[in-house]
Amino acid sequence: MDLTWSPEEEEFRQEARGWLAANVPGNPLPSGDTREGFAAHLEWERTLFEARWSVVSWPEAYGGRDASLWQWLVFEDEYHRAGAPARVTQNGIFLLAPTVFAFGTQEQQRRILPRMAAAEDLWAQGWSEPGAGSDLAAIRSRAVRDEGAGGWRLTGQKTWTTRGAFCTHLFGLFRTDPEAERHRGLTYFLVPLDAPGVTVRGFERLDGDEGFAEVFLDDVLVPDADVLGGVGEGWRVAMATTGSERGLTLRSPGRFLHTADRLLDLARTKGPGAHRDRVVQSWIEAQAYELFTLEQVTSIVEGRQIGAESSLNKLFWSQLDIALHETANDLLGPEAEVDGPWSRGFLFSLAGPIYAGTNEIQRNIVAERLLGLPRR
Ligand SMILES: Cc1cc2nc3c(=O)[nH]c(=O)nc-3n(C[C@H](O)[C@H](O)[C@H](O)COP(=O)(O)OP(=O)(O)OC[C@H]3O[C@@H](n4cnc5c(N)ncnc54)[C@H](O)[C@@H]3O)c2cc1C
Repeated sequence: MDLTWSPEEEEFRQEARGWLAANVPGNPLPSGDTREGFAAHLEWERTLFEARWSVVSWPEAYGGRDASLWQWLVFEDEYHRAGAPARVTQNGIFLLAPTVFAFGTQEQQRRILPRMAAAEDLWAQGWSEPGAGSDLAAIRSRAVRDEGAGGWRLTGQKTWTTRGAFCTHLFGLFRTDPEAERHRGLTYFLVPLDAPGVTVRGFERLDGDEGFAEVFLDDVLVPDADVLGGVGEGWRVAMATTGSERGLTLRSPGRFLHTADRLLDLARTKGPGAHRDRVVQSWIEAQAYELFTLEQVTSIVEGRQIGAESSLNKLFWSQLDIALHETANDLLGPEAEVDGPWSRGFLFSLAGPIYAGTNEIQRNIVAERLLGLPRR
C-alpha cells in the first residue's frame, strides 16, 4: 500500500491550507445550534461557496471543483486542522447530496444542488418520529395521493430534527402505502418548510442550545417533482443516505486527527507521563480510523459499494470521540468543568452513540450482516 499523496494532491493541499489560513475566522463562532451562531455560520458557508470550497468534490456546474475523493479527504484534513467552523450545512451536503447524486433526476440535481452548495437552501433530516427511532420502518407520517393537484398530501410529526428551526427544507420518509410490508410502503420526499401546513417548533437540547425541532405536517401538498427515487422506494433510498451518515462523509478522519493533535498538545502542557498510555492509545486510534477510511476510499474509487461496513465506521468514530474527550477531561482535572471547546466537545461526543442510528443497532447490523450471526 502506497500512503504517499501525489504531487497534484499536495498542490491541492497547499492551496486549501493557504486559503483557510487567510480566511478562517480568528475567533471561534458562537455555536451553530443557536439562532445567532447559525447566522454567523451561514455567513461562513457563503464565504466558502464564493471561493468554491463549500463542496469541493461536486461538479463545477453545481459549485464544486470536481475534486477526487482523495482530494476531498485532503481538504477535510486541512479544514479541521485549520480549526474552521463546523458545517451547519452538513445534513444537506454530506447526507442528502450523495443521495440526490445517486437517485435524483437531472432536473432535481440541477434544481437542488447549486442552491444547497450556496447555502441558500438549508436541509434538515426528517426521519425520527415519536414512535420511530431505532425502528425507522415504524414511521407513521403518511402521504396520500392527490391526483387533481398532481402530488401528495403529507401529514404527521417528525422529531429530533437537527437545526430544524433554522433550516428551509426537510428531507424525510413518509408512508405512501399503508397496506404494503412496512419497509416497502415508504417514499422519500423533499419538503419546503415554508409550505402551507408545516409548523416547526424548535426546542433545546440538554446543553441548552436550540439544536432540535419538531416538525408538524398537516395536509402539506408536495408535488411529484419532489419525490426522490420513486414512490415506494423510500427505504432503499434512505439506506443510501444512512451509509453517508454512518460512513466517512459525515465524519471524515480529519476531525479526529485534529482532536488527537489537540490532545497531544494538552498532554504536553501537563508534564511528562500524564495519562500517557491513554493519550497515545487515542492518538493511535485516530490514525487507525484514517487508515480504515483510506481503505474505504480505495474501495469506492475502484467501484465497490460500501454497505453494512459503514456501521463499523460509526461504531469506531463515535467511541473514539468519547475516548479522546474523556482523556482530555482527565488531563484537565477540575478545569474540565469550565465551559470551553473540550467541555462542549465532550458533551456532544456523548450524543455520538445515539445519532446516525444507535450503536446497539450498529452492533446488530455488524453481527447479522458482516459476521453472519443469526437474528435473535
Ligand atoms: C444529537 C442528535 C441529533 C439527531 N438528529 C436527528 C435528525 O436530524 N433527524 C432525525 O430524524 N433524527 C435525529 N436524531 C434522532 C436519532 O436518530 C434517534 O435518537 C435514534 O435513531 C434513536 O432513536 P430513539 O431516540 O427513538 O431511541 P429508541 O429507538 O427508543 O432506542 C432506545 C434505546 O433502545 C435501544 N434499542 C432499540 N432497539 C434496539 C434493538 N433492536 N436492539 C438493541 N437495542 C435497541 C437503542 O439502542 C437505545 O439505546 C438525532 C439524535 C441526536 C442524539
